[in-house]
Amino acid sequence: MTSAFPISVPVHNKLTVIAEASYMQRIQKQLGHSGTASQVFSLSSIISNPHESLQTEWRMKHWGVAYEVENVRVELALTTRWIIRFASRDQGPTKALATLSRKYREATFRNITYGNDGSGSSTSFLCGLSPAPNYWGPSTSHKEFQSVAGEDSCDCNYMINPRGLYPYIDCNRPEISTDQALDEFEKSSSLV
Ligand SMILES: [Zn+2]
Repeated sequence: MTSAFPISVPVHNKLTVIAEASYMQRIQKQLGHSGTASQVFSLSSIISNPHESLQTEWRMKHWGVAYEVENVRVELALTTRWIIRFASRDQGPTKALATLSRKYREATFRNITYGNDGSGSSTSFLCGLSPAPNYWGPSTSHKEFQSVAGEDSCDCNYMINPRGLYPYIDCNRPEISTDQALDEFEKSSSLV
C-alpha cells in the first residue's frame, strides 16, 4: 500500500568542518554560532527562503531536505576542527552544505548521514563540489555502531537500561556481582 503523503523519517547527521582558525570563526559566525546550542547551526543561516509560499519545494531545491534541521549539538570545538551533530528529515541537507562549501572555499566539509541501525552515507564538500557519496550498511557490532553514531550512542549505554537492550554481541553488559561470581565459581568447582 502506498501513502498519499511521503513518509518523513528523522535521520542523524555528523558534520565535520576543517578550516584555518580565523576562517573557522567566519563560518561559525555566519551559521549563528554563539555558544548556545540552539543557535549553532541552521539551514536558513546558509540560505533562507525568500518565497514563503513555496516552502517545501524551495527547501528541497536549495537545502536538499523538506524541513529545517533539529537537535543541533556541538561534539567537538577546536580552533581548526568543528564537529556538530543534528537531525534532518529523510536525508542529509547536501544542497545547503554544497552552497556553504562554495562560499567558504578554503574549508573542507564532510557530512555523514545515518539511520538508527547505523547504515548511512558520507559526503565530502570542497569548493561546492562533492564526489559520489560512500554508502555502508547496518552496523554489525557495538564498536562499529558507535564509530558512526558517537560515543555512548548504543542502546546498551543508557544510564538506566530497563529493557536490557544489548543489540550487539560486543555490547557492554552489566558485570555480575562478586558474590554471584564466587557462587558460580564454587558450583563449577564442585563439579570437577
Ligand atoms: Zn552496545
